[in-house]
Amino acid sequence: MDAEQLRENAHKMVDFIADYYKTIEEFPVLSQVQPGYLRELLPDSAPTQPESLQHIFDDIQAKILPGVTHWQSPNFFAYYPSNSSIAGFLGEMLSAGLNIVGFSWVTSPAATELEIIVLDWLAKLIKLPDEFLSAGQGGGVIQGTASEAVLVVILAARDKILRRVGKNALEKLVVYASDQTHSALQKACQIAGIHPENCRTLSTDSTTNYALSPSVLNEAISNDITSGLIPFFLCGTVGTTSSTAVDPLGELGKIAKSNEMWFHVDAAYAGSACICPEYRHYIDGVEKADSFNMNAHKWFLTNFDCSVLWIKDRNALVQALSTNPEFLKNKSSEANMVVDYKDWQVPLGRRFRSLKLWMVLRLYGLENLQSYIRNHINLAKKFEELVAQDPRFEIVTPRLYSLVCFRLLPPHGNEACASKLNNELLDAVNSTGKIFISHTVLSGTYILRFAVGAPLTEEKHVNAAWKVLQDEASALLATSLG
Ligand SMILES: *Cc1c(COP(=O)(O)O)cnc(C)c1O
Repeated sequence: MDAEQLRENAHKMVDFIADYYKTIEEFPVLSQVQPGYLRELLPDSAPTQPESLQHIFDDIQAKILPGVTHWQSPNFFAYYPSNSSIAGFLGEMLSAGLNIVGFSWVTSPAATELEIIVLDWLAKLIKLPDEFLSAGQGGGVIQGTASEAVLVVILAARDKILRRVGKNALEKLVVYASDQTHSALQKACQIAGIHPENCRTLSTDSTTNYALSPSVLNEAISNDITSGLIPFFLCGTVGTTSSTAVDPLGELGKIAKSNEMWFHVDAAYAGSACICPEYRHYIDGVEKADSFNMNAHKWFLTNFDCSVLWIKDRNALVQALSTNPEFLKNKSSEANMVVDYKDWQVPLGRRFRSLKLWMVLRLYGLENLQSYIRNHINLAKKFEELVAQDPRFEIVTPRLYSLVCFRLLPPHGNEACASKLNNELLDAVNSTGKIFISHTVLSGTYILRFAVGAPLTEEKHVNAAWKVLQDEASALLATSLG
């Protein structure tokens, strides 16, 4: 690791990345390669002698970039966004540069302490109740993903209830969530050893805009209690992955409290919008939650990965996840004076991820971040208006944030061909390489999702995307009618 060599090569890499961003719109947004394409382009084994950086850059250009789907393209409207920013990028660079492994406070005190402080800052920006702050019994921790966040809280909740009702009750524990809940919950249940038949995915429908109904939850809980089972975990979602449905946290939280269940709130995508006062009300009722999660790496300008989890009772996490091997013992940990984040997560090792969130918060400031969110929501509103003006299309669910759920109506109201038609439209627009959108299914109906949220997206990109959709729809309708 020669400092001058680092300077020279890293400058070249920064130039390469800057040029990439400059020309990002020239690539097809969705990679158009076929499975296995790369094996034909690369040698069978690693080189025995060093190669030049220039040679590798040439390969990246010719062989890697064609197999990249450009999440940072302003024409990326699929799934949910995965933001990058200069601030996030610089933080990521510094984290790679220092390359510390901050599992215990002593392994880099700044890593632990900055994480605590920055997550308190962010909790205050989204107006989380004080119980989630580090000053009391709570606090925040950066996980890799929302999936890891729900896993660690389900482990904490499981061990907490088992301490009360006895270890043999594992088979009786029941988890509740709506059928719109991210599959991460199901995976967490599998890992936590929850009996597969005890994971209730409660039905939702268009009458509640796919939010979980408190009466449906109440009924399921009563039935389970009558059967001798033990309700212990409820996951609510604010901004579901399919359609940004918002579960009624206040009412759900009351039910969780009266049944002594752990209440986790997944706001992976929509949590970012809480920094704007006009969108904060969607998480009203969060004061009844035990844990709350948002992905700063989705819609908060922080490069992947940075999923923020706040918890009211940090002891519950530590009791489920701590270990204390001899080789890690140290004075500050033994004296209980510090946070050791290894006890708040599955892995031991952890990166210095708070740097990038800290840089995002400082280099933008709250007001710019609010305008950033509002701009995307306004662009989605514009797209929604465009769709609504074309009688060949319909808006499927009300737009709450920056996601629009819509579909092409089947000719002559022939619903039997509606899914096929929309699936063909999706393939057609994505094959143009001009935009990338994704789909979902709600109440058995195939639906297109248009999620605004890439940092480079402007109004002209949204207008152009709509033009692509209209043109491809016209072509499809012409062939399906003719
Ligand atoms: C994206 C998303 C997730 C999963 O996110 P990961 O961080 O990739 O695990 C979970 N829940 C919701 C609501 C999401 O939108």
